[in-house]
Amino acid sequence: MLLIASDAHRAHDPADEVEAGHRRPMHETPDRVDRIRAALDATGTHRWLDPDDHGRAPIDAVHDPAMVDFLETAWAEWTTAAGVDDAVPDVFLHPGLRAGMGPARAPATPLGRLGFWCFETTTPIVAGTYGAARAAVDLALTATDRVLVGERFAYALCRPPGHHAGRSVFGGYCFFNNAAIAAQHAVARGIDRVAVLDVDYHHGNGTQQIFYERADVFYASLHGDPDRAYPFFTGHGDETGAGAGAGTNLNLPLGVGCDDGDFVATLDRALEAIDGFGAEIVIVSLGLDPYRDDPICDLAVTTDGFRACGARVAALDRPTIVVQEGGYATDMLGSNVAAWLAGLETASGQR
Ligand SMILES: [Zn+2]
Repeated sequence: MLLIASDAHRAHDPADEVEAGHRRPMHETPDRVDRIRAALDATGTHRWLDPDDHGRAPIDAVHDPAMVDFLETAWAEWTTAAGVDDAVPDVFLHPGLRAGMGPARAPATPLGRLGFWCFETTTPIVAGTYGAARAAVDLALTATDRVLVGERFAYALCRPPGHHAGRSVFGGYCFFNNAAIAAQHAVARGIDRVAVLDVDYHHGNGTQQIFYERADVFYASLHGDPDRAYPFFTGHGDETGAGAGAGTNLNLPLGVGCDDGDFVATLDRALEAIDGFGAEIVIVSLGLDPYRDDPICDLAVTTDGFRACGARVAALDRPTIVVQEGGYATDMLGSNVAAWLAGLETASGQR
């Protein structure tokens, strides 16, 4: 299989995040990519490709350009003003704050601007964050280009991940929505119907929002029920799209301890819907955090279960771009990605 990766992600390496009131070491680390690359190299069956630079235009096509501007300069402004390295907000634009008083304006100070664009506290900005996030987008776009010219599958080893980044908001370890930018890129290149299949444990609030009123991009997600799972405020089953996008959003919330059988059966429901939508290509937001030993999740999927998931997606028989999202059980992360991709290509008869 064709794999797209680069070392640019290493520049994004914050030390700590604030989770559930505690400052603790980041779960989302460069080591995750090293583990995945090592496991895929060990298979001896994959081809690595460097990404192409696509510039900023594909990002501005999905995100508010003012947020992209902010991210480009945020760290330099922050570190000058605050005198510490990691830029983390502590005052957020809660919708109740200005309810009935019209929209907020972006503040002038770095701390105020962080709370204007970011929605939580686990996503520090450091010196190399913007470059790493830009590079992750190029991986997803390069994989998309290759599939659009005839490659059956391509895998983009994106880091930082993307699916929590919305049109004008970032967070959840995500800055730019790699999968959504890839989907928009495919539409711009003439694909009429694109499906994004999100199998990360966490609901892809950003991807859902970006395409919520769109008839040409179907979003299907399996995730921990938002009644208990991050990001808490999106991902309910009754969120089905709006306007021209009515019926093009499918959320399938999962209960605690969901095992291989339940997960694959739920995946089949998503694939059936994607097939019914008539998707011409599929973009998979691949999170391995449904894994039974993931430190921040509560499902019970095994490595064999991930292999079965890849095989099911292959059976859909569509050109497929796989974009890396989460997965924090680092000891098994590489094996789990390798198993998922092996299921994909073995079931399709491709090596
Ligand atoms: Zn996740």
